[in-house]
Amino acid sequence: MRRFFCDAIAGSAATITGDDAHHICRVLRMKPGDALSLCDGAGYEYDAAIVSASPEAIVCSLGRRHKSGAESPVRVTLFQCLPKTGKMETIVQKCTELGVFAVTPVFSARCVVVPDKDFEKKRVRYRRVALEAAKQSRRAMVPEITPLVSVDQIDPAAFDLFLVAYEEELSRPLKQALRKANTPASIALFVGPEGGLEESEVQRLCSLGAVSVSLGKRILRTETAGMAMLAQVLYEVEL
Ligand code: SAH
Repeated sequence: MRRFFCDAIAGSAATITGDDAHHICRVLRMKPGDALSLCDGAGYEYDAAIVSASPEAIVCSLGRRHKSGAESPVRVTLFQCLPKTGKMETIVQKCTELGVFAVTPVFSARCVVVPDKDFEKKRVRYRRVALEAAKQSRRAMVPEITPLVSVDQIDPAAFDLFLVAYEEELSRPLKQALRKANTPASIALFVGPEGGLEESEVQRLCSLGAVSVSLGKRILRTETAGMAMLAQVLYEVEL
């Protein structure tokens, strides 16, 4: 069944507008009476039927509501230090497919790119990438891409578990840190930029409760590290 995100759900009715309305009406040529599935973007799905269809608005009546099985019980946020141009889109797309809850872009000492005043425009694009990836992978929510923060603004205490992937960490594998943790509801993963992390950055985060971990014997590129870490964490915490 066709599936759409819809944030205009009120009682037993919902209205789809924008590009999706145009797509449903003009491209899919769906008609009143046709069934579809609507997702509220917050973890719930509804069986729905079209009541009226125009390229501007598709009005639907709602039937059964059920919790989506697509979302992890553990909310995993990726703190990703700014990579070189073009890589953030890949990171957002792949991490959305894997099940990330939110992505926070971070500016750190060894970032190769310096964020400009146009970063908000880029963020709009990243949000669009997250939306498309969420649709494609049948997620029940669209991961939030939060505004850029500087590494020294981050507070690890806001998460049950805050893991820093540190290339110089040799003694604590990710697996060990996860197995020691007490069923966390929220986990943060922090990944450095191409140039790596400064020891002082890792020390500050760890002094505030973060744990530095190794992702193994091989050094991964920044765009690989987040995906690999996320896949391993979700493997460990999901049923
Ligand atoms: N330029 C650095 C590598 C940076 S890799 C060097 O040559 O040492 C980019 C980021 O990916 C790192 O800052 C870290 O957060 C993560 N990363 C990559 N491989 C890792 C590993 N084996 N263990 C832990 N973190 C890793």
